[in-house]
Amino acid sequence: MRTPLIAGNWKMNTDSPSAQGLAAGIATRAVESAGAELLVCPPSVYLALVRDAIGNARVGLGAQNMYHEANGAYTGEISGNMLRDVGASYVILGHSERRHILDESDEDVNKKTVAAIAAGLKPIVCVGELLEEREAGRTAEVIRTQFEGSLAGITAEAMASVVLAYEPVWAIGTGKVATPAQAEEVHADLRKQLAERYNDAVAEQVRILYGGSVKPDNAGDLLALPNVDGALIGGASLKADDFIAIAVAASAACKV
Ligand code: PEP
Repeated sequence: MRTPLIAGNWKMNTDSPSAQGLAAGIATRAVESAGAELLVCPPSVYLALVRDAIGNARVGLGAQNMYHEANGAYTGEISGNMLRDVGASYVILGHSERRHILDESDEDVNKKTVAAIAAGLKPIVCVGELLEEREAGRTAEVIRTQFEGSLAGITAEAMASVVLAYEPVWAIGTGKVATPAQAEEVHADLRKQLAERYNDAVAEQVRILYGGSVKPDNAGDLLALPNVDGALIGGASLKADDFIAIAVAASAACKV
């Protein structure tokens, strides 16, 4: 059984009052989507504020990035232990904006994934192809390379805490959502890779989220797909009503 995970990536948005209000708005309505796990990933400076606004509601706390070293002279960086200390249980790694704007490589993502697991965080490892890669028929190859590189050395046991997210870069923040067929093809291929690299049990257990312009009106079709186990949401996660509507769709599509 894979409980759908609905994760909101707030990116570099909100300020103190709006982060507090958004978290409180989501927390108040979390009970509406009992079949799904909810997660919010605010900017790191607001993690403590959001943690307090969530209180005892059934909403998890995640970060959007971390550094791979545990501590030391790394000015401006934040470690996995620090994220745990402030109450985060998840961390998004290898988001396309970090890969393509901040030049993160699969090797960087891999080091962070290893460090996140060591710190007791659940990494959400993102993969996804550029539009030109899809148009060149290279989607499967690109995803396979990112999968192999980002998860190098991660044992079957450690994979229990890993979540994968397929986010076609051309669908992020563009309003162009992958068709259900496009999403299912990549998700099924990722599951096959999990089975080949690890075993059937790991493949059955690991959740694979879809991300890229998920909105309340397209969430139902995507979340009903056999190999889609939730969503990583950018824009729509900044409105409590939209985020909850997507979580309710996930709850309704629950494949248990
Ligand atoms: C994201 O940033 O992970 C994302 C999927 O953004 P959006 O939902 O806005 O496309």
